[in-house]
Amino acid sequence: MVSRDGVCNAAPRIGALEAGGTKCICAVGRYPDDLRRAENRLELSSEAGPQVLIPRIVDWFAAQHAREPLHAIGIASFGPLDLDPASASHGYITATPKPGWRNTDWLGFFRSAFPGMPIAIDTDVNGAALGEWRWGAAQGLTDFVYITIGTGIGGGAMVGGRLCHGLLHPEMGHMRIPRIKGDDFPGSCPFHGDCWEGLCSGPAIRARTGLNAEQLPADHPAWDSVVHYTAAALANIILTLSPQRIILGGSVRKAGALGEEAFFARLREAVRESLNGYIVSSAILESTDRYLVAPTLGDDAGLCGAMELARSRPSAYTE
Ligand code: ZN
Repeated sequence: MVSRDGVCNAAPRIGALEAGGTKCICAVGRYPDDLRRAENRLELSSEAGPQVLIPRIVDWFAAQHAREPLHAIGIASFGPLDLDPASASHGYITATPKPGWRNTDWLGFFRSAFPGMPIAIDTDVNGAALGEWRWGAAQGLTDFVYITIGTGIGGGAMVGGRLCHGLLHPEMGHMRIPRIKGDDFPGSCPFHGDCWEGLCSGPAIRARTGLNAEQLPADHPAWDSVVHYTAAALANIILTLSPQRIILGGSVRKAGALGEEAFFARLREAVRESLNGYIVSSAILESTDRYLVAPTLGDDAGLCGAMELARSRPSAYTE
């Protein structure tokens, strides 16, 4: 359970939306614990598409707002997103391969429904990173990365104490990584084939094996490739951003019959092998079990992050 540390009694009431590849979770509350209560929360399958889903989401928040006013709403969404406030498509989902979701105007729908209310939006993984920074495994850090491996693969980064956006926002899941010799699986990414997401996401594992990750036996060779490719990707991230910690969330990390603990143990060893002694840090050489970790907030990291996006600095994200 998450404590209410540092949050005063007058904490504003916030609407939080985590929009993921499989489901959208809406919640309201003043503290992370509030978001977990069934009466404050609505979960919807993303499969229905935005025409059906967005009116239901907006109506639900409107009903909550009518019951007791919301001060701000935070959106942590799958992407890619346009997060440039100067852009005409600011707040849109842009080039997603997800059917029906391309050019979805998240921010516009919420602005129309809640005129004048601060609306914050960022990627689901930047949101999850912010949630873990405020309440979870990244407290006190200035440079860290949150990765999710699930329906897709994404990475959010805090660099020098700020969430990283840059040109658009990082798309770490689509980095190119060297193939294992003899591995002829073409990959499942519609843009790149065998990028990291195309090799290791949940749909990629299903395309390779015919099974969902949670159904794979512990000794299935697909785990070898997921560990090998993910270790290569994490090594690239370590070499590029020099994070003080990496938090790995998403459904695949639970690793079915292999188990989360065994998956992390294999991954930590493979990351050390991939770096091959080049990064001289006790965090990686000796304390990898505290360096590469699961999210403290579990599967609610993104939702808690959406709350923090809205709670902490909505002015940075709205016009
Ligand atoms: Zn890709």
